[in-house]
Amino acid sequence: MRKVSSVCGRYIALFGGGMCIVLCCSSKLSISSAETIALTHCKIPLSSIGINGLFVQGGIVCGNTAPDTQIHLNGQRVRISSNGSFIFGFGRDFPSTATITVTRNKVPNDYTIYIAPRQYKEQHIHGVPQRTVSPKPEDFKRIRQESQSIVTARQVDSTRTDFVTGFHWPVRGRISGVYGSQRTYNGVPRRPHYGVDIAVSLGTPVRAPTGGVVTLVHPDMFFSGGTLIIDHGHGISSAFLHLETINVAVGDTVQQGEEIATVGSSGRATGPHLDWRINWFTQRLDPQLLVLDE
Ligand SMILES: [Zn+2]
Repeated sequence: MRKVSSVCGRYIALFGGGMCIVLCCSSKLSISSAETIALTHCKIPLSSIGINGLFVQGGIVCGNTAPDTQIHLNGQRVRISSNGSFIFGFGRDFPSTATITVTRNKVPNDYTIYIAPRQYKEQHIHGVPQRTVSPKPEDFKRIRQESQSIVTARQVDSTRTDFVTGFHWPVRGRISGVYGSQRTYNGVPRRPHYGVDIAVSLGTPVRAPTGGVVTLVHPDMFFSGGTLIIDHGHGISSAFLHLETINVAVGDTVQQGEEIATVGSSGRATGPHLDWRINWFTQRLDPQLLVLDE
């Protein structure tokens, strides 16, 4: 890739060999190249991250190509839908370069892309239940089982393409925790925060940010309390943590905007808030980069 520039509010990554990838345009942008992947099916805006576009840690890339194209990111297959839509993303600590392999007519071409690093905040949380910071030996079996069920839900690789409509906030309120921040709980360093926390009152309805199928429901996990995961297709999933009630069951199809749960403060929490997470398989993405509304 030679450079990243902004064109009419859209971001274009220019590759060697005359290939372009246009990131997340809400309308068609014509690019004349036999090798072009025109990313036109995604309504995710870029305004929140500026010139870095979405080739950034926590960022997401989606688009549209000929259905007979194969795309791999660092060797990992990127699912292409029957009408050519695809999506992938970069986790919190994604390395600064990656290889995208585009295969057409059995001929692979590799392209180097650059992923911008981010500076993450530090956040010190006080007042969570001490046992959720320093679990007792008898807690570890339960913790392992629960984390395995979350891993399994995030491995779902369905043909759904709910992600193409873009994402809305599941609740609206004050942002009390951001993606990526290094955290201490009751003074003890723990894993970074991978979601966005929205502080709202107990019982506030949680709405599906986009459509999908429910893949995990748990009334009270050790760390995350009432937990719900929804598959939006192609490995993109939402997780909702610390819920009070969950109104849907595994296998249910939900529509964008449908009420799926209510906000609680279960698990490792100091008060009512929604912790919303987005994954592309194991890559943890920043929900604040995805939402359509401010
Ligand atoms: Zn959180």
